[in-house]
Amino acid sequence: MELSLHGRTALITGASSGFGAHFARLLVREGARVVLGARRVDRIAALADELGDSALAVAMDVTDEASLIAAYDAAEAHFGTVDTVIANAGIAAGGRSTAVPAADVASVVGTNFTGLYLTAREGAKRMIAAGFQDSERGRIVLIGSITAELTGQGDAAYGAVKAGVAHLGRQFAREWVRQGITVNTIQPGYIQTEIAGDWFQTEGGARQIAAFHRRRLCPLDALDAPLVFLCSDASRHVTGATLTVDDGQVL
Ligand code: NDP
Repeated sequence: MELSLHGRTALITGASSGFGAHFARLLVREGARVVLGARRVDRIAALADELGDSALAVAMDVTDEASLIAAYDAAEAHFGTVDTVIANAGIAAGGRSTAVPAADVASVVGTNFTGLYLTAREGAKRMIAAGFQDSERGRIVLIGSITAELTGQGDAAYGAVKAGVAHLGRQFAREWVRQGITVNTIQPGYIQTEIAGDWFQTEGGARQIAAFHRRRLCPLDALDAPLVFLCSDASRHVTGATLTVDDGQVL
């Protein structure tokens, strides 16, 4: 099986913490070069230092297309064409829908949907221009969420947007199916990162964990094998898929 990521250049959005920082370390371990994108440049610069020559930190705000384009330009100048994109940046704005400020709804849509859309399509444009049709090397992985399949979690806009992400993945997969680019969505379960703050340390959070069948949060490394597979040559025939990795939380 061709699971090695040697020779690949992966651009990861939201690489300053949580999944994104973890994915960067994982992909470098598996042989890839990584471009670390986020707004908190001090964090991605420190991670790039840790990872050495295989990593480049680029300031990026996914809600600003010019900043995304500049980040891809910097990536291309340093490593050549990005052949693997992990559209991971995201934010949460919880609360009852009758109370959530309109600006928070707009931020969730702007970052988790429009930002992800722009990230993926900028990568695809460049893969198409670079002739990936023949090499079939293009890989785009969207980070959705099991909240796409849940209701009543106090994050209506977030969950609805994540459902949109999975469908967007199928739309993109169809659009680029003859351009040598696969597009797949991973839907993680609840995993402790900064996005949840200290929620899982509260009574409500503890009740939520106790209600999961396995009475635990999903470990972060549960995403490793699915991600490596979807970034590798071995997944060339898998496109438009949505893969839930949640330790059975949604069942
Ligand atoms: P974190 O809060 O740790 O990471 C979110 C990342 O997104 C940060 O690196 C942040 O970087 C980045 N980000 C936010 N807004 C922007 C922006 N405008 N431009 C560029 N980067 C941005 O949370 P996670 O690692 O958990 O979240 C990663 C993804 O996983 C998100 O899409 C989230 O919805 C999803 N997810 C998380 C789950 C969980 O339980 N943790 C479950 C399912 C899905 P910076 O602030 O430096 O810009």
